[in-house]
Amino acid sequence: MSESYDAVVIGAGPNGLSCGAYLARAGAKVAVIERCVETGGGLVTQELSGFRLNHHALYMMLAELMPPYQELDLSSRGVSFVRPEVQAAFLFEGGKSLTLHLDAAESRRSVEALCQADGERFAVMYEEFGAMCQRFLIPATYFPPIPPIEQTQLLETSGELGSRIAAFSEMSPREVIDEYGFEDPRVKAAFLYLGMMFGIDADEGGLGFLLPIYVYRLMNNAIVRGGSHQLSSALRRSLEEDGAEVITGTAVDEILMEDGRATGVRLGDGKEIRCRAVVSTLNPVQTFTKLVPEGTFPEEVEDGAREWEWEEWSLFMVNSGIVGEAPHYEGYDESVDEALMVVMGYECPEDVIAHSEAAKAGSVDHMAGHATVPSLFDPLQAPNHVPFGTPHVLRWETWAPYDRDWLSERDAFAERCMEFWAGYAPNLRERNTRVSVCWSPKDIETQLATMARGSIKHGAYTSLQMGYNRPLPDCSEYTTPVDGLFVAGASTHPGGMVIMGPGYNASRAVASALGIELPWPQLDSVRLACERGYLSLDALAEDAALPEEDE
Ligand SMILES: Cc1cc2nc3c(=O)[nH]c(=O)nc-3n(C[C@H](O)[C@H](O)[C@H](O)COP(=O)(O)OP(=O)(O)OC[C@H]3O[C@@H](n4cnc5c(N)ncnc54)[C@H](O)[C@@H]3O)c2cc1C
Repeated sequence: MSESYDAVVIGAGPNGLSCGAYLARAGAKVAVIERCVETGGGLVTQELSGFRLNHHALYMMLAELMPPYQELDLSSRGVSFVRPEVQAAFLFEGGKSLTLHLDAAESRRSVEALCQADGERFAVMYEEFGAMCQRFLIPATYFPPIPPIEQTQLLETSGELGSRIAAFSEMSPREVIDEYGFEDPRVKAAFLYLGMMFGIDADEGGLGFLLPIYVYRLMNNAIVRGGSHQLSSALRRSLEEDGAEVITGTAVDEILMEDGRATGVRLGDGKEIRCRAVVSTLNPVQTFTKLVPEGTFPEEVEDGAREWEWEEWSLFMVNSGIVGEAPHYEGYDESVDEALMVVMGYECPEDVIAHSEAAKAGSVDHMAGHATVPSLFDPLQAPNHVPFGTPHVLRWETWAPYDRDWLSERDAFAERCMEFWAGYAPNLRERNTRVSVCWSPKDIETQLATMARGSIKHGAYTSLQMGYNRPLPDCSEYTTPVDGLFVAGASTHPGGMVIMGPGYNASRAVASALGIELPWPQLDSVRLACERGYLSLDALAEDAALPEEDE
């Protein structure tokens, strides 16, 4: 049996769902195919005995700025965000702490309590990071990548801020932190951790521009009310309301090719679906070497996929539903108890780097990480009635290597993590754990085939795998050398995390190729960035038009 669509999207993670939802809203006939029984990819919320455990993505950074939130009206489909005032707390020896707040003046006061002179340095840095993000880095998230030479020229000729961003783009994250001259190693450690938290190497040249993004995002951070999966459900609802079909529990095994063109997909159950555009949100190894016969792509694309670099370290998570008190950080400022993220185990930048190096080298000896109690901010995440006490959901997150015998080590490591946390919050030792699930890098890969070696961003961030090079220069504008085949996942610009840039940008490229007019103009922020000279429509390649009918 064969059905026909304008577009078939492979993978129903945040990017596949958002890409499909835009296309469906614009009038295309769309099918989204998902291997797992539920949509969402990294947007997983599992409900166990009433405790909602967000096994993967929890932090929604600058959540309201994701275009689908406004343009697809996700709030009327059940999405709202909770944004705690105390965004992050860093715990140091001797009861000292640093708290970062939505209110920058509060954050400055906390920095000053550690080191008076660093307060002014923080204010300068935060203002500059804010300007960089609002004027260029956020708009560039929702705009196709511009070839590096053209992008650098645009930035350098646009004025002082642009030149500074261009300079940061040559540096490493550690060098960018050093620019601000912080005296207190604890302050430096805190901002370096935020920059590296999602697996970014401190010393990777050409990635300095990521530090402002992650520091700014993680100081404007939220969780989804009711659990991260609510975001997936709302996107699915939007798709289905616009007539799209969402097929779950079946993998795409093959991309069908005719006369060098992608013309559809074959599912695991043998069913074939024909379409004018196939949009893959899978990683480059899957898309370019597994789903098509060898020789489909030019040699440089196949070689590029084979040489694709995975992330060098991944995450280990423990998510538990407990009955007992929320953690109380004994001996610390009381605002620490109210923080969305509490970071433990780093006194100086060298500690942060030593932890990432240990994880890269395959070791789990270095203990540090951060914790969140989602139920503190959102009562929906824990059952509303449990006998014998107050229910809470706990989440512990730390860096971890992929190459370990996780099957035998996982539970013992989870216990070590929870004991480390309880070293700071001793009341946790009194908890009654009702449900607990831990995820090693190997479990991540097993659940989401896109995240090979636990690569939460579908591939390392290196200067050769970012911007116009992501995933490969031949496929960086969401088109590929194969007519009718598009890419849209975290392995495309701007990369991983729940920001929906790849899905949003790809939907525009696919719509244009299908000859469908999108009812949305460019975002105001993008238009302004073009007017200010940071971005330019002229620097983009021509769109690839697809034939009207599938012959
Ligand atoms: C432990 C962990 C913690 C994280 N924490 C955060 C966080 O706090 N904040 C944040 O923003 N991000 C976080 N992330 C990262 C974020 O989840 C990902 O970067 C994001 O989900 C990528 O979105 P995507 O749509 O490109 O791909 P994915 O979410 O990987 O979705 C791709 C989908 O394709 C499906 N698929 C795979 N193969 C096939 C096939 N052959 N046929 C059909 N379907 C297929 C997969 O099952 C999956 O559902 C975390 C990730 C992990 C693993």
